[in-house]
Amino acid sequence: MPAGTLTADEQQMVELVSEFVDQRVRTRVRDYEQDDIYPEEFIEEMKRLGFFGLLAPAEYGGVDVSTACFARVTEELARGWMSLAGAIGGHSVISYLIKTFGTDAQKQKYLPGMADGSIRATMALTEPGGGSDLQAMRTTATADGDEWIINGSKTWISNAAHSGLFGLLCITDRDATPAHRGMSVILTEPGDGLVVSKKLPKLGYRGVEACELVFDGRRVGNDAILGEVPNKGWAHMMRGLEVGRIQVAARALGVGQAALDDAVRYAQQRESFGKPIWKHQSVGNLLADMATKQRAARLLTLDAAEKLDAGERADMEAGMAKLFASETAMQIALDAIRVHGGYGYSKEYDVERYFRDAPLMIVGEGTNEIQRNVIAAQLIARNPI
Ligand SMILES: Cc1cc2nc3c(=O)[nH]c(=O)nc-3n(C[C@H](O)[C@H](O)[C@H](O)COP(=O)(O)OP(=O)(O)OC[C@H]3O[C@@H](n4cnc5c(N)ncnc54)[C@H](O)[C@@H]3O)c2cc1C
Repeated sequence: MPAGTLTADEQQMVELVSEFVDQRVRTRVRDYEQDDIYPEEFIEEMKRLGFFGLLAPAEYGGVDVSTACFARVTEELARGWMSLAGAIGGHSVISYLIKTFGTDAQKQKYLPGMADGSIRATMALTEPGGGSDLQAMRTTATADGDEWIINGSKTWISNAAHSGLFGLLCITDRDATPAHRGMSVILTEPGDGLVVSKKLPKLGYRGVEACELVFDGRRVGNDAILGEVPNKGWAHMMRGLEVGRIQVAARALGVGQAALDDAVRYAQQRESFGKPIWKHQSVGNLLADMATKQRAARLLTLDAAEKLDAGERADMEAGMAKLFASETAMQIALDAIRVHGGYGYSKEYDVERYFRDAPLMIVGEGTNEIQRNVIAAQLIARNPI
């Protein structure tokens, strides 16, 4: 498998995750998943192994790996259980935002705890009225002396019940046009004026909760604004979403790889008409297409990660990776069900889970329709006539 340009230490990190997944996660995942249980045991182990500090700088206790390594670690976790990769998703984006745009005080306050996982963070963008059209958002923070008062609601916020920190995108200048010029990322902890609802029932991505947040007069200081300068939040978050979309692409890679591995194994074990089913050309062709698309998806993802690591704008590349890898994961999951025949539909095998987990990567972190809009806009911007 192409490894990208990982250092020896980073390769070791990926191997460590791979071992954790094979020895601990894959043997237990079905129990946790089917009963929708929060995977406390795995989260504790992930804290101990440093997975929550992947994007935090070493001086704050983090591991500070490249985005390519972050993507490979994410893929390995998702190969075991996509929910575990989801548990570090929004958290890592917020680490990246604080590392890149935060004040020294914000870095000191949050990064050490985020690195060891004692503070787990999530990002709150989507509202009940819409997630794609973020500029129509209604959650506001209104200045009141040295404080801001937050009102509004967010929905589908992953890991919210276990979060010690919310990276909230909201309006801080209602008169700004276009609206994105009046948005800020506010770093807020749970407390008075913020209610986290019960978890929303969902198709897959089980074990890890998604909740609604209601802000009703939540007060924060000026020092809660990322970088302590208001109205820069849109640009900050768009950069963060480049990391987030690479992470979602990598989650899709993990699900796709798991489905492909299971299909390749099953196609050799199962026989019909006196031979292993992979020798029937239709099944062999399915496997060939699955493996080819999976490889292409991984190369696109590593390409986007390397672009980001080079300090270049990577929204188009991250969008392409997220679009292709998620559609590929969905297709591979469906084809893995085909290869497994009736057993593909059974709870005794993992392929039905891949099929329920894959659609999240099509919708989350900006739907694939929105990714196509981003890709098209960048194609034109980068190729003017
Ligand atoms: C399990 C789960 C976890 C999530 N976790 C988080 C989280 O942690 N934080 C967070 O902020 N959000 C989270 N989300 C929300 C997710 O990011 C949004 O659901 C997503 O961005 C889409 O927003 P929406 O659901 O409001 O759909 P809508 O925006 O209403 O879109 C509906 C449909 O219209 C299409 N559409 C809309 N506008 C356009 C357009 N301009 N061009 C083409 N098509 C368009 C969309 O592609 C989609 O097909 C999560 C969602 C789920 C399901």
